[in-house]
Amino acid sequence: MCYSIPGKIISIRDNIAIIEYFGEKKEALVDVEDIKTGDYVFAQGGVIVQKLEEDEARGMLAGWEELFFKLQEKDRILSGENPPLSPFFKGGTHVSQFRRGETNNFPPLEKGGTGGFDVLSILGKAQACEIPSRKEILTLLKCSNEEGLSLIYKTANSVRHKIHKNASCVHGIIEFSNFCKNDCAYCGIRSENRKIERYRMDADEIVNAVISASNKYGFKAFVLQSGEDSYYTTERLIEIIRRIRKSAGVLLILSIGERDVESYRRLYGAGARGVLIRFETSNPDLYSRIHTTLQYDDRRRILNELKAIGYLIATGSLIGLPGQSEEDILEDILFARSLNTEMYSFGPLIPHPETPLAEMKAIDLETMLKVVAVARLIIQDGNILVTSAVEKLFGSEGTRQVLMAGGNSMMINLTPERYRSLYSIYPGKGEGNSNIRRKITETMSLLQSLGRAPMDVGI
Ligand code: SAH
Repeated sequence: MCYSIPGKIISIRDNIAIIEYFGEKKEALVDVEDIKTGDYVFAQGGVIVQKLEEDEARGMLAGWEELFFKLQEKDRILSGENPPLSPFFKGGTHVSQFRRGETNNFPPLEKGGTGGFDVLSILGKAQACEIPSRKEILTLLKCSNEEGLSLIYKTANSVRHKIHKNASCVHGIIEFSNFCKNDCAYCGIRSENRKIERYRMDADEIVNAVISASNKYGFKAFVLQSGEDSYYTTERLIEIIRRIRKSAGVLLILSIGERDVESYRRLYGAGARGVLIRFETSNPDLYSRIHTTLQYDDRRRILNELKAIGYLIATGSLIGLPGQSEEDILEDILFARSLNTEMYSFGPLIPHPETPLAEMKAIDLETMLKVVAVARLIIQDGNILVTSAVEKLFGSEGTRQVLMAGGNSMMINLTPERYRSLYSIYPGKGEGNSNIRRKITETMSLLQSLGRAPMDVGI
């Protein structure tokens, strides 16, 4: 089983290779040695992680070929062969005209509501790569009529298809420690929670978990996540990263919270290539109400520093925080867009009984779908993750609907079973998914039922 299709390098310039997958061309950074034009490689998140022997690659491609075109056709049909907004769609407009962070400066909202905008014409703009105004985006986030909602989701899905075709990524996540020095009001592993059993995986356990999931199941990208745990010094992490990179062709994404820029630079030097770190909320007051040990400005600075080092960044916010308004969510999406990163992760808050937010009510599926759809419409490119919290709250049907509203990326929990339920950032996390092989089969069949193929999506 494989979560990435091999591609053939057709050219290399300035360390950027053009890789061809069944006629589709993608760019990727050359990050392994001895790579030349004509080689077959696996790439993840726009980074080449492994070179393959030609025979092996051809065998895999032969296995995929028929299925690949069938999946592509299915996705084409499901994403709207007759786009819902065809009268507005400016044929031939290329997505590259829609660059994040450019020309449109999103004038601030005026007081007095959203003022009778027509959902259809706003969606027409987004689909034609014109950026709607703040007021217009808010109209989408506040939409509550069934017909409008269905159009928002369908249009977001067609934008996803237009940009990524049927490419979807499936990453593995290993939660290696639930020790945390922070006190985030939403999080079940906060330092103040004395009721959970704490655990740490040692270097051998972490390295073995990655290598065995890579060998046994074919995963090519891993998130290594933990609380903010200073036991894992930069030196210890460097050793872990080096050992993994030496034995497995995989993309390593760290999700370990805030560290100084020099540490992150050294971790990049050791072979880490991505960081998953949410800004949690773009509202500074809300941020300071839910964090006592973390500062709003630090989080934003770190995101920029990580980008400057060269990391692929996955970021986003929690949806359903106390007092969070649609205006706040709008700002979250626009802030995420301004960061111009590779992956976005907007997920629902699931109140944890041992936190100050225990009495909060989680958002409904409609709100989640709107956030993902509007993020897709406004940010357009980049992968949008369907978070594990979505699956916990809304089940596999919720996951399916988010994938059909602009989402295109998933994670499978590969934390060893004895630790899995202890990483309880929200209640019930990690429970009920103990059989990894079954989880992989379910995920792959869900993706394939929607015509999606696990292909790298390039930079
Ligand atoms: N220490 C790392 C990883 C934190 S856990 C870091 O600081 O980045 C990963 C994410 O889980 C957090 O960013 C937060 O958005 C999310 N999370 C925490 N508690 C949650 C809850 N109760 N419900 C849903 N998501 C939660």
